Amino acid sequence: MPQRPYNFSAGPAAMPDEVLHHAAAEMLDWHGSGMSVMEMSHRGPQFGHILSHAEADLRELLAVPADYHVLFMQGGALAENAIVPLNLSRGAKADYVVTGSWSQKSQLEARKFCDVHLAASTHSASGYGSIPPIELWDPRRDAQYLHYCANETIDGVEFQHAPTRFSLPLVADMSSTLLSRPVEVAAHACIYAGAQKNIGPAGLTLVIVHRDMLGRALPSCPSAFDYAVVAKNSSMYNTPPTFAIYMAGLVFQWIRRQTEGALQGLAAVAERNRQKADLLYACIDASELYTSRVEHACRSRMNVPFFLRDERLNDAFLQGAQQRQLLQLKGHKSVGGMRASIYNAMPLGGVQTLVDYMHEFERSH
Ligand SMILES: *Cc1c(COP(=O)(O)O)cnc(C)c1O
Repeated sequence: MPQRPYNFSAGPAAMPDEVLHHAAAEMLDWHGSGMSVMEMSHRGPQFGHILSHAEADLRELLAVPADYHVLFMQGGALAENAIVPLNLSRGAKADYVVTGSWSQKSQLEARKFCDVHLAASTHSASGYGSIPPIELWDPRRDAQYLHYCANETIDGVEFQHAPTRFSLPLVADMSSTLLSRPVEVAAHACIYAGAQKNIGPAGLTLVIVHRDMLGRALPSCPSAFDYAVVAKNSSMYNTPPTFAIYMAGLVFQWIRRQTEGALQGLAAVAERNRQKADLLYACIDASELYTSRVEHACRSRMNVPFFLRDERLNDAFLQGAQQRQLLQLKGHKSVGGMRASIYNAMPLGGVQTLVDYMHEFERSH
């Protein structure tokens, strides 16, 4: 089969070829069952096996402590923007840190359910591109939790470490960074992520929540979104997104098989992600044509927005990229410019091909 184009989509994003081939091979008959995974009862033994393996692999990859629940939910990260305050705010105070478009959406949604205060915010006329020093954050002591977005997919702003200075339960939207590097799960009360960036197909939302956070949902919280109900029913209170869970499980196994030098699994993937991001930012920084608007210390390893200093060249840049089989590089409509999303499934060779093209384009313009 000819090599597929390199796909820089921010999400739904490229999946590893190996995973797609694997799923294709067992599409009509999963392990001699005579059924496709999407045709199975979610309560049958076959799907039970798929779900429990997916959870075990995820727990191992992220070293999830035993006192955390792993929930397989639906609705995406935007639904979690409501589900989190419904479950964790007690209708009282909740504090948010705004470092980009997604955390901005989170805090606006939370206002429907609780008293929101911005512990820090970085919006400026030129958009987002930094994280305020943690010494300057002013969360309320009696807030039920402090929410942040670990990686701002649109703006390219990423926390390099969990912001653990305060004693408040920490809640993180990790939609576009979960499984790109090791994460300090124990520093968090709750982590959530829509799958379609770095985990699997759209339709699945992962939630990792400490057991002490369960049982405080508002009475108005829909049962299917009540963490305690979902946990008690092992993510099968209602029909879970079975096929998306199966695909995510294949991705978890793929990550476990990765090696990079002496590194294995998530450590190998993280090292490769660092190399990919370094290569691309080095190209941008050395160039007279391309520029990044994000401060060095918080540049995302997953989503790299960049701009052409002469914006009239945008269309020509995108056209040339398309001709070289470099797909979906156009920036988010709210930001403009370009954005290269380089999740786990993007090989180093894909970033090298992009960088070669960027050099060539700069020389000829
Ligand atoms: C994509 C994304 C969202 C939105 O996810 P949906 O699945 O569309 O609800 C929210 N937050 C972050 C960080 C994202 O990357």
